[in-house]
Amino acid sequence: MKQEFEYFAEQFADLKILRYKVDCFEQFSIDKKLFIYYLSQAAISGRDILWDQNYKHNLAIRKTLEEIYTKYQGLKESEDFKAFEVYFKRILFSNGIHHHYSMDKILPKFNIEYFNELLKVTNTECTEEIKQAIFNINLDNKRVVLDSDKDIIATSANNFYQDVTQKEVEDYYANQDKGDVKRPLSIGLNSQLVKNGAKLEEKVWKLEGMYSEVIEQIIYWLDKAKEYSQNEHQKLIIDLLVKYYKSGDLRTFDDYSIEWIKETESPIDFINGFIEVYGDPLAYKGSWESIVNYTDVEATKRAKLMSDNAQWFEDNSPVDKAFKKERVSGVTAKVVNVAMLAGDCYPYTPIGINLPNAEWIRAEFGSKSVTIDNIMKSYHMSSLKSGMLDEFAYSDEERERAQKWGFLGGCLHTDLHECLGHGSGKLLDGVQQDALKNYHSTLEEARADLFALYYIMDEKLMQLGIVPHEDVAKSEYDAYIRNGMMVQLTRIEEGSVLEESHMRNRQIIAKWAYEKGAECNIIEKVQKDGKTFYKINDYSALRIIFAQLLTEVQRIKSEGDFEACKALVENYGVRFDTDLHKEVLERFKMLNIAPYAGFINPKYELVQNAGKVTDVKISYDESFIEQMLRYGKENTFLN
Ligand code: ZN
Repeated sequence: MKQEFEYFAEQFADLKILRYKVDCFEQFSIDKKLFIYYLSQAAISGRDILWDQNYKHNLAIRKTLEEIYTKYQGLKESEDFKAFEVYFKRILFSNGIHHHYSMDKILPKFNIEYFNELLKVTNTECTEEIKQAIFNINLDNKRVVLDSDKDIIATSANNFYQDVTQKEVEDYYANQDKGDVKRPLSIGLNSQLVKNGAKLEEKVWKLEGMYSEVIEQIIYWLDKAKEYSQNEHQKLIIDLLVKYYKSGDLRTFDDYSIEWIKETESPIDFINGFIEVYGDPLAYKGSWESIVNYTDVEATKRAKLMSDNAQWFEDNSPVDKAFKKERVSGVTAKVVNVAMLAGDCYPYTPIGINLPNAEWIRAEFGSKSVTIDNIMKSYHMSSLKSGMLDEFAYSDEERERAQKWGFLGGCLHTDLHECLGHGSGKLLDGVQQDALKNYHSTLEEARADLFALYYIMDEKLMQLGIVPHEDVAKSEYDAYIRNGMMVQLTRIEEGSVLEESHMRNRQIIAKWAYEKGAECNIIEKVQKDGKTFYKINDYSALRIIFAQLLTEVQRIKSEGDFEACKALVENYGVRFDTDLHKEVLERFKMLNIAPYAGFINPKYELVQNAGKVTDVKISYDESFIEQMLRYGKENTFLN
């Protein structure tokens, strides 16, 4: 019997831990498997860099906690030990002692006496400085400070700077040579800035520089991976990356980034380096991260099929002919799956990637933009069991449909929205791009969503083989109305209104459809056991309502009708029934859903036969803490 894949692993504090599935890995050729394996090793081996970047005591703290956890033989059911375990897991999740999202220091829910006892019984050493770092709430209490009335460098606890003030950093980089003005270097991206006597000095992260021991490992694995590159271009890219790790020269990093954008043929791709700068309040320093991914052939094919037929969709949409494009070209989005997450992408990870960050490279050479399918799938599949669907779906029929078709429906909606929706329609001559002012983005999102909602139920998608069953559209309609009328309100605090444009647009569509269909009872508001539900009674009629609103929204955009746009947004997109909001918040609170999720990676192992590598085995049975302890054991290169 085929075992069902377990997406959900565990939940603690405000975190939930999920797994993602590396579909098709078993079917890959040995070359592809080995390429992924060696890139994954290069990814995991950089782990310590991020820990040290986040806070200077993070590595010492992690090692102390690891030692206690592995050596402790006492009662594990006591409240104190459980509190220790949760603290340890939270630190592992955040790659350090500061919360990954709020950046605040995470305080243990056990006291220092208990900690001293643990140290004693496990014979673990710990300095006073480390104890202060863990328990003293006033010391280094925020990783990234952004308050403009403070010295954001001196008060931030991250380890990108030592003993320098904000003014010193700003002056230092203002006077740095950025090279060619049209092609400025990302100065400061790969170094720590410290004070040496009266002078400021950059400690560059490179071989024989800072983090040399780790970078040596990364290079070792990248060199191994290179042998299995999928084409010659990719070999060149790895060479450039290795050259950059060896020299620390930011010009080489730009060369690498440009080649990386140009390479689009390989089915396997990766990121490995100092990339995002959110961890530095002044946005110079790159946090170390790595992702290994491969193209999702089916999903990419689907997106391509849509954009190949873009003109058909444009010609057959319900909007007025005067507002249609004579010539439309669809956008093909590339869809990938991840095979390994590391550094700043692990365990908390993005669902899309759009790199590089250097503006001039983007302007001159473009960027690579991908969505990560298997991460989104994992979020979706685990949410089916979170209780959210049980709570807000009206009937078993609706629930079953969502279980079966909800993920596909959501993906198709996104594809239609991105590949076709935004690109459709045209402005009438003389209408200004910014005619709709502050309401522009809400209307634009509504237009793309309506295009998707209209077409997801169209015969054409069945003919193209994209939609396998009519329930796909039904489940997307259920989800859209459920979300627009109720579920998305869980993210709004009591007393607030909708401000974000995607949320406004979803409510506009759902509410408008509900109102227009009220007379014929197309969407019904039902009370059951004191709870509110919205139930769709006639899906085809709802599609006609979506078509009507699409027609109107396109007219507003094409004519630049500001007043009509304002009325639509203000009347449907901002306010909502406060009693219903209260009810929704109460129902949501009962479900006890953790707001943040992170992922366990799969485990890859080489299979050897008579000294020769014959295969790479993939498995998913490690727990969160087992994986973290293994990484700690196999990939600790810094003291
Ligand atoms: Zn959009």
